[in-house]
Amino acid sequence: MDIVLASVYEMGFCLRGTGPDCDSKAAFVSVRKPYFDEYQGGMIRRIAAALRCDGCNEYILGILKMEPDGLGSGRYISVYEANYPVGKPPQFASEAVPEHIREGYIASPTKRGWATG
Ligand SMILES: [Zn+2]
Repeated sequence: MDIVLASVYEMGFCLRGTGPDCDSKAAFVSVRKPYFDEYQGGMIRRIAAALRCDGCNEYILGILKMEPDGLGSGRYISVYEANYPVGKPPQFASEAVPEHIREGYIASPTKRGWATG
């Protein structure tokens, strides 16, 4: 897992790293306004957005979290927390699995490589 936060801008953010769908170095740019997950009182806890891979045009979910800036200023900065999917399930790579079975994984979003952690 080598995905990192590349930039944050007014209407979204961009991650970069190895695409979980295409396995190539790519950038992932938010396609809509992000969702701001807030604590009671309005302080932002996390930021989530749908991102599109510029390598293969597939979509991922990117999540940032807010952390103190480390300078003692009392300000917070957004940092990478997670992305989903994190990769393909091993069935995609295994030649031991017949191609028509692997295609079934591609066709059914409920069988994609969603994972946690
Ligand atoms: Zn990709």
